Amino acid sequence: MNEGLEQELLKAHPVLYPDLKPRWDDAPHFECEDGWGEILKELSARLDRYAATDGLAVVLVKQKFGGLYVYTELQDDARAVDGKTDANVRRWLDEATRKSLCTCELCGGTGRRRYKGRARFVQVLCDPCTVSKGYAT
Ligand SMILES: [Zn+2]
Repeated sequence: MNEGLEQELLKAHPVLYPDLKPRWDDAPHFECEDGWGEILKELSARLDRYAATDGLAVVLVKQKFGGLYVYTELQDDARAVDGKTDANVRRWLDEATRKSLCTCELCGGTGRRRYKGRARFVQVLCDPCTVSKGYAT
């Protein structure tokens, strides 16, 4: 994700993203393309309330099998997350993944899973981005 968008998310939600660091040299903080920025903004706003009260933190954001996956943990083990909080967090994470599977990872338009090459790279793309990235339509 481009640095401007990353900084916007990190600055808007410092308690939710206390330790989100690139995993290798030149890696982004958020391991996905810009088209999912809106999904991440909405999810971050939802999770933020539990960051302050329950110590919830996002530790990894990545594209996997074409979808958006956000991994969270509790920074303070002593603070138990009640069942309702836990269910909400799981539902929101699932919703973000579901939404990503029909949202172009590059531009945010309506997309679906596309495949490329023998290694079967998979990415959710809209029609124009599919052509520009050389994926099979
Ligand atoms: Zn697109």
